[in-house]
Amino acid sequence: MAKAKELLIVGAGLTGSLTASLLSRSSVQANITVWDKARGCGGRFTTSYSDNDRSLHVDMGAQYLTRCLETSENKVKNDVYKELLDASILTPFQGMIEGSKHSHNDKHYVAPKGMSSICRHFLDHSKASVQFKRCLKSVSINGGRVLCAAESGIEEIFDGLILTLPAPQLLQLQGNLLSSRAATDIVSNLSSVKYSSRYALGLFYNAETVHSSPGMFDSPWSAKYCDHPVIRYMSWDQLKRGAETPGATLLVHTSVPFGIKQLNTDKDQVKGQLLEMVGEMMPGLPQSSHSYLLRWRYSQVQDKFPGLHDFVVMSQDPLVVATGDSFSGSNFENCLRAAMHTSEFIAQ
Ligand SMILES: Cc1cc2nc3c(=O)[nH]c(=O)nc-3n(C[C@H](O)[C@H](O)[C@H](O)COP(=O)(O)OP(=O)(O)OC[C@H]3O[C@@H](n4cnc5c(N)ncnc54)[C@H](O)[C@@H]3O)c2cc1C
Repeated sequence: MAKAKELLIVGAGLTGSLTASLLSRSSVQANITVWDKARGCGGRFTTSYSDNDRSLHVDMGAQYLTRCLETSENKVKNDVYKELLDASILTPFQGMIEGSKHSHNDKHYVAPKGMSSICRHFLDHSKASVQFKRCLKSVSINGGRVLCAAESGIEEIFDGLILTLPAPQLLQLQGNLLSSRAATDIVSNLSSVKYSSRYALGLFYNAETVHSSPGMFDSPWSAKYCDHPVIRYMSWDQLKRGAETPGATLLVHTSVPFGIKQLNTDKDQVKGQLLEMVGEMMPGLPQSSHSYLLRWRYSQVQDKFPGLHDFVVMSQDPLVVATGDSFSGSNFENCLRAAMHTSEFIAQ
């Protein structure tokens, strides 16, 4: 029997976790390792918890999954939705999305345990060895294998590598992967990938606060797109999940122009400005028991990698593939397609 290949996936976000899961179900004989620089999985499918009450959580990046029924004949895609729905990882979005531009045929889903639970589900199913707080610093091709070095100084050699980080972060990697003459065109195309930037503010309200001002938390919308220069989107996370929690969580996303303009501003200053604006938009909103601000430097892809490719092969031997939303576009179905095409290519 052929020896299983050692395969590293960098990124435990949606693309990385889906790719690990799809590969583990394929004919590929590989031991899969996943590295992520963060403390947990999810990437931009991330969920934050209140410091004071773990039952209060809020999705800071992706908000809901939109299933486009017109293109739903794909078997893998149907199976993935079925698996997530059967395991109650996904449930239908509850309530109204005010100002939504989605088609009436689109179905929206949320994750009752938070969006990161989707990635956790796929990682668990893949049986990959997942290493958090491991930040890839350099990639070098050497004698048909790939040497990956982490910021911590750890070095490991793999037979193949799948990179799922956003292109601007991929371009920061050291080593000979990006510096070879063969990579010139790929590096130039990676440099053309552009992301938007925005801030996410999560506000947590404990049971006493909700109890003392019930009217404030009785919203007609679960989520709403705002016609405001700074605040683009708001969501009552417990409402969109239909959760019967005594507390409440409000998510606020800023507009992209604000995100870009304030990209390097002190975060406390940005938080202060946003709290003031939310207060003006929702007079009477009590003070939250906990709040958290996240800067999304790489939020959603504006200019994808040129061409209609969901991945690019950076080296044939050893195999190094870059994929993720830089190639496919920023949403669940695009990342699923990227993971599907990447794993099919590797399994060929
Ligand atoms: C504010 C916001 C709202 C959004 N709303 C929606 C929505 O409602 N619906 C939807 O479908 N999509 C939405 N998206 C888009 C969606 O979140 C992304 O397209 C998707 O999560 C991208 O997944 P990914 O795995 O390709 O990348 P990522 O999630 O970015 O995963 C890459 C991973 O790589 C890790 N990483 C980076 N560099 C290194 C390194 N050097 N070493 C090790 N690890 C590294 C990161 O920590 C990260 O976990 C939203 C995104 C944002 C930011």
